[in-house]
Amino acid sequence: MPTAAFITMGCKVNQYDTQSMQETMIRNSYTIVDEREVADVYVINTCTVTNIADHKARKAIRRAIRQNPTAKVLVTGCYAESDRAAIEEIPGVTFVFGNREKADFQGYLDELDGPGLLQIKPVEHDVIREHARFSAGVGNAGKHTRALIKVQDGCSAFCTYCIIPYVRGRMTSRPIPEIVEEVERIAESGYKEIVITGVHLSAYGRDIDRTSDIGDILEHIHPIEGVERIRFSSIEPMYFPDELIDRMAALPKCMPHFHLPVQAGCDKILRLMRRRYTTEEYTHLVEKLRSAFPDVGVTTDIMVGFPGETDADFEESLRFVEAIRFSQLHVFRYSPRRGTPAADYPNQVPPHISAERSKTMIELGKRLGMKFRERMLDKTMDVLVEDSREGTNQQLAGFTGNYLRVLLNVADSAINQVLPMRLTALDGQFIQGEVLPDAFLASQSSAIPIHLQT
Ligand code: SF4
Repeated sequence: MPTAAFITMGCKVNQYDTQSMQETMIRNSYTIVDEREVADVYVINTCTVTNIADHKARKAIRRAIRQNPTAKVLVTGCYAESDRAAIEEIPGVTFVFGNREKADFQGYLDELDGPGLLQIKPVEHDVIREHARFSAGVGNAGKHTRALIKVQDGCSAFCTYCIIPYVRGRMTSRPIPEIVEEVERIAESGYKEIVITGVHLSAYGRDIDRTSDIGDILEHIHPIEGVERIRFSSIEPMYFPDELIDRMAALPKCMPHFHLPVQAGCDKILRLMRRRYTTEEYTHLVEKLRSAFPDVGVTTDIMVGFPGETDADFEESLRFVEAIRFSQLHVFRYSPRRGTPAADYPNQVPPHISAERSKTMIELGKRLGMKFRERMLDKTMDVLVEDSREGTNQQLAGFTGNYLRVLLNVADSAINQVLPMRLTALDGQFIQGEVLPDAFLASQSSAIPIHLQT
């Protein structure tokens, strides 16, 4: 059987797309192997969010070609959209195709025996939208534990630093009946947690009729049998009214974790980024979430060194981040993306200054993360046990509802079960969890006993 390996970079939307392409390969009798193995076909699903992402993509392509110089190498994703020429220059690449062409992945497989095109194959975009823009697929983080579902793609916001609207196109929302059907299928195959994914989730529905929103998706999938948890991968803080939070809070399967990319904690920079909210509005959103969801985890992306960011602006951002008490920060250094307005802004911040600011922000993020974990100690929380081992003792691990990574002393039979755990001790970036005696006793009468690991 021919083998295929996937290298996936960037966001959850790309991960979802990879899963769909993997399913197509499996239907075509390919065996999916690890990216470090010698494979007949490599698919590199790239990201272009920063210059570093571009560099990593080129490195991954070259590594795949070195691993098997006779392999077919297919390159797709946002970097393939933004700088096709740079990829075409790499000897050994078979096809380059963009995000919109992922829906025609079967077509590329059919042509793999040919000489290779080294170009973006022309595909009727309307046809893609009609039949397969959102081809069915299950992104999976762990064995039948968490499944990604993409509900929209693209973005029409045009934040001044972001290349996404240019490489993924304008926003397209997927109809709710189709989403429901896919979640039903996912639940039937045993997945307990649904992660709703998209590029700009909070704008969901605005391209259709503005009467459907992300709350409607939640309300439609919440009753589906087998679904125990629902969360968002990342949701922009714009278009997030109080009323939506009230609707979410009425749905017990909706998990108390929100990744709300703030990008800057200073109104002047938010305006330059064209982010369409103020720090005050963001603070209100977080306060509302905190009152609706006890122990909510609020995580974020924050950029440092945006053009025009002075020392005083950066200090303001630090104070804002501290005041919000994020449970985790993803810190990015601004890097200009050709074709975006911010790349031509004056007052670009020198790299050594943005590097210094990044270090300071990362340190603050670590401190806040630690404080959040400390606050959660001695609490009892449900953990979905995953099929992955982590920490120094390679224990099974899982996430709490508020997205804390917990290490567990349970046997493999506990995998894919939601168990109440007492959070007993900090262990670096993890928390040690102990299964409650009640959960253990309950398991004795269930079909799958959960033995405490000795
Ligand atoms: S909302 Fe802004 S940052 Fe997010 S994808 Fe759209 S343009 Fe990019």
